[in-house]
Amino acid sequence: MRKIFFFFLLLSHQFIYAQPSSLQPARDYVRQNTGPIISEYAEFLKLPNVASDPAGQQKNADFIMAMMNKMGIQKVQLLNATSPGVPPSVYGEVLVPGAKTTLIFYAHYDGQPVNPAQWAKGLEPFTPSLYTNALDKGGTNIPFPSDGVYNNDWRIYARGSSDDKAGVYAILHAYEAIRKNGGAPASNLKFFFEAEEEAGSVHLNEILENHKSLLQSDLWIICDGPVHQSGKKQVVFGARGDTHIDLTVYASKRPLHSGHYGNWAPNPAMMLVRLLASMKDEKGRVTIKGFYDDVTPLSATERKALMEVPSVDEQMKKELGIAGTEMEGVSLSESINLPSLNINGIQSGNVGKLASNQIPTTATAVLDLRLVLGNDFSKQQQKVIDHIKAQGYYVTKAEPTDEERAKYPKIIKVIPGPDGDNAQRTSMDLPIIQKIIAAVQATTNDKLVLQPTMGGSLPLDILKKQLNAKTITIPIANHDNNQHAENENIRIGNLLEGIVVMYSLMMVKQ
Ligand SMILES: [Zn+2]
Repeated sequence: MRKIFFFFLLLSHQFIYAQPSSLQPARDYVRQNTGPIISEYAEFLKLPNVASDPAGQQKNADFIMAMMNKMGIQKVQLLNATSPGVPPSVYGEVLVPGAKTTLIFYAHYDGQPVNPAQWAKGLEPFTPSLYTNALDKGGTNIPFPSDGVYNNDWRIYARGSSDDKAGVYAILHAYEAIRKNGGAPASNLKFFFEAEEEAGSVHLNEILENHKSLLQSDLWIICDGPVHQSGKKQVVFGARGDTHIDLTVYASKRPLHSGHYGNWAPNPAMMLVRLLASMKDEKGRVTIKGFYDDVTPLSATERKALMEVPSVDEQMKKELGIAGTEMEGVSLSESINLPSLNINGIQSGNVGKLASNQIPTTATAVLDLRLVLGNDFSKQQQKVIDHIKAQGYYVTKAEPTDEERAKYPKIIKVIPGPDGDNAQRTSMDLPIIQKIIAAVQATTNDKLVLQPTMGGSLPLDILKKQLNAKTITIPIANHDNNQHAENENIRIGNLLEGIVVMYSLMMVKQ
């Protein structure tokens, strides 16, 4: 055995990290309580959790508060916004005598809106179902076992199962593992569970402002998102920002017969696709003037970490059924450290059974701009608008009037999204961060993946502005969890291991 071990070490040049025995109580807790942990989770997943349904969200908040009260967590309460009818965040804390550091654990309990018709046959978003594997890996439906014995590769399918009720749940059970073991956390713990993250955290600003002193801390630990596509654990130091722009190109006032008017009447779909195509070159670089200006360069530590991120490009191309990528020669992890311009959707006329030989009147598109550190969302929107003007368009914010129609051959309505998150990134070199990295590293034999940023967006920017908070993201969900889409699922092993990771963070000596 030993020989094989050393052979492996030499052969692969992989880092092998020993796991400290201090994590044993967490592993024992998870092993001894797997059955009840998962059946209670299934109850949690039965509660619809769309942010736009305050009554439904109240039931989730009640469920979380009941869990916290049962665990003896102090000051359990709802944190409300100033605006009425906003689903509340849930707060609680555990103060440890003599502790020098305060960590706030963040997760969100709302999920993306659902369209049950899009879910696979037999799946309902709010009826958690257990499968022997992922559906696309041949998983089949089985009942929740009465003996409490689960396989790590089994999956629970339900909305919020990975994004992000898994975060709420892993955090609370990590604390329960400490309590059941008769110990105390090494830091003061605060818990903050948001109700509107998937709806853009529209009232988070108000909630933070109303409860500023309660929410002071040394670090926010965000438990959201997936582990690395390689299956290795990762620590993420920031998130991209995000904003949107809606575009509508106008042509004739009424739809026209394509035989009578084709070649003569302007076609808005053609105009729009030409405009959109002018925004990116063949190599995937955005050609809008100054688009990549303002970007804060990566530090030497961040560049080094990025170089060491395992490449998953070939694996992902195979998994997704694509032969090429948009930015030739730029890896997935490098590409998310650049601002991006994405077409979320285009619409004009009808296709399929409703298709007709017509020249449509309008064509619309929604652009999604992802931002990196240094970008300001409204400035980035303005660069796009300036580019549109430079292509000869008359830009308006309303339906064009007859006078405008008579005067301008190229008319577009541009509605920049009023909201946007700017990107945020915490330095990897801070001492507190070094300890957090070590705590996560202690839970795995594989070398951790350290990502300067995640591809998605989180309200880190608001935390920074309101509380001057430092943030770090420790994701636990499987990468193929279908978050935000139909058939969302969590791998059992990821949920249970998430408890151990959160435990390690709560126990790290600061
Ligand atoms: Zn999330």
